[in-house]
Amino acid sequence: MYDVKGNLKQVLANLPQGVRLVAISKYHPNEYIEAAYAEGQRLFGESHEQELRQKHTTLPQDIQWHFIGHLQTNKVKYIAPYVTMIEAVDSLKLLREIEKQAAKCDRVIDVLLELHIAEEATKYGLTPDDLRQLLADGEWREMQHIRICGLMMMASNVDDEQQIRGEFQQAKQLFDEVKQQYFADCDHFCERSWGMSDDYKIAVTEGSTMVRIGTTIFGPRIY
Ligand SMILES: *Cc1c(COP(=O)(O)O)cnc(C)c1O
Repeated sequence: MYDVKGNLKQVLANLPQGVRLVAISKYHPNEYIEAAYAEGQRLFGESHEQELRQKHTTLPQDIQWHFIGHLQTNKVKYIAPYVTMIEAVDSLKLLREIEKQAAKCDRVIDVLLELHIAEEATKYGLTPDDLRQLLADGEWREMQHIRICGLMMMASNVDDEQQIRGEFQQAKQLFDEVKQQYFADCDHFCERSWGMSDDYKIAVTEGSTMVRIGTTIFGPRIY
């Protein structure tokens, strides 16, 4: 097995105080998750509903699961009973469905709004103007079963460190803007989920509060 424990320790040692690690375990077997769990890691991220369901039912129940991938509205009902956070909300339609399913489970589900800043056209997420529009529209204020806890984003997959840094800075600026405008009194609107294996060291210098790291801990994924 990949040296999950050693890698996990290394990553944790690189994180400043106050930055949480979401260990991204997608495509990795339970044994890998159990190794990280044995080191005390409780926060894991998955991006496919069926795989998450499988892992949730077979692994320790005190694991907190973040759904980090693109979520189809018809899948929300399956994860609503147990998911801790849905990180990549990119439409009002999805927000409405989470509200509906969370209400059915009599839960409040934490969510992040996913920003699209990166250049890649294939990435999901709200443009800065989409984000402003969604918040200005105000329907989210009526949703009693979701709690908007911050923003999530993926930087461009490029080697240019300045570009990546610039995208994180843009995300931080938008966070500050909407925090001030809509969430000034909400202590729970505090999460900035950015930073992955290749760029988390940059992300933590640019205000990330939560990094999502897979490959560096668990090794390459076998698809
Ligand atoms: C897979 C994935 C990650 C982890 O990527 P690594 O490069 O393996 O660290 C982080 N965030 C999202 C949204 C992902 O889909």
